[in-house]
Amino acid sequence: MVEQLSDLLARNRRWADAHRRAEPDFFSKLTAIQQPDYLWIGCADSRVPANEIVGLQPGELFVHRNVANIVHPYDPNCLSVIQYAVDTLKVKHIIVCGHYGCGGVLAALGPPVEQPLESWLAPLRVVSATHADELAVTRTDDARWRRLCELNVKAQVASVSATPTVQAAWARHQPLTIHGWIYDLHDGLLQDLGVTVDGQGRG
Ligand SMILES: [Zn+2]
Repeated sequence: MVEQLSDLLARNRRWADAHRRAEPDFFSKLTAIQQPDYLWIGCADSRVPANEIVGLQPGELFVHRNVANIVHPYDPNCLSVIQYAVDTLKVKHIIVCGHYGCGGVLAALGPPVEQPLESWLAPLRVVSATHADELAVTRTDDARWRRLCELNVKAQVASVSATPTVQAAWARHQPLTIHGWIYDLHDGLLQDLGVTVDGQGRG
């Protein structure tokens, strides 16, 4: 457990030193170019560190994280990330990654929470309402929670696919595929939810 902020700065110096020792031009190479193939849209949860769980180095993954990996159709933050990633960086894949045990998803299964979080979670409540029949017959609270985590990923893949940026990229035949994954905190493994979409409409 890190107790003081000065510890973080000391850790940073050790991290930078270790990289320089392993590869003397590591940082100069990184500074020169940013050309990641992937955009990761994931949850802000501290237990789901994007680069680390897919074994990618700095420079290899463009990352956007927020509570419960939601892609609001009018969120200028997330939409700008997608725009920059697709139009400028020309990423080939966008990965929407949820995780089991997501606190944001759990909140959306309960009574309204305080603002602004309640507004943020609105799309999740829509997903929950859309699948109310299925969720109602899901046997346990835990299973319901897990299922909504999966349904949320699928809904956000659809949301990414519908953005003007992605639609325009597909219209000009730019290679771009959207994937829906989920991460399990218990074993550190990712699972592909099989909701991949690309510009050809292939599933
Ligand atoms: Zn989460």
